[in-house]
Amino acid sequence: MKKIAVFPGSFDPFTIGHEGIVRRALTLFDEIIIAVGANALKKSYYSLETRKTMISSVFADEPRINIDHYEGLTVDYCKRKGANYILRGLRTAADFEFERAIAQVNKAMAYDIESVFLLTVPEHTPINSSIVRDIIRSGGDASRFVPAAINLKDYRGEED
Ligand code: ADP
Repeated sequence: MKKIAVFPGSFDPFTIGHEGIVRRALTLFDEIIIAVGANALKKSYYSLETRKTMISSVFADEPRINIDHYEGLTVDYCKRKGANYILRGLRTAADFEFERAIAQVNKAMAYDIESVFLLTVPEHTPINSSIVRDIIRSGGDASRFVPAAINLKDYRGEED
């Protein structure tokens, strides 16, 4: 059976931390779906379409990675896609506690779906989308924190 993993997140924006997790996970799974969670209640900085375009540009040469979005429960989305794994990245103990609760609740809802966690490399530990957004909002240069394929200048003015 094909091993399909869903990597769900806000990716607002997608960072080198996210990229690192996805590239390393390619050795574990046949296919990875990077699924942007469309949360009507949570205001994003970049629009859904912009976030998907940014991520697509990073993995243009990688046929085993697909970009999508979803609403509702992650486990329901996984079932629709035939994915048995949820991929998440861990930076700190705080991430662990947050992820533990989500993964255990997901397990209770969908026993066949396994959450798989990869620990980030030390140099990516301090990187998070909210700090990257703050840098962009304040007119700083955040390019070193996002994948090389994403030219943030191209997305100026596309904030939601
Ligand atoms: P969410 O809103 O679901 O937390 P994020 O886009 O913030 O979405 O994160 C998606 C996933 O990527 C989460 O598992 C998060 O822990 C992980 N992640 C975020 N930043 C990094 C990083 N620098 N290194 C490794 N994993 C990360």
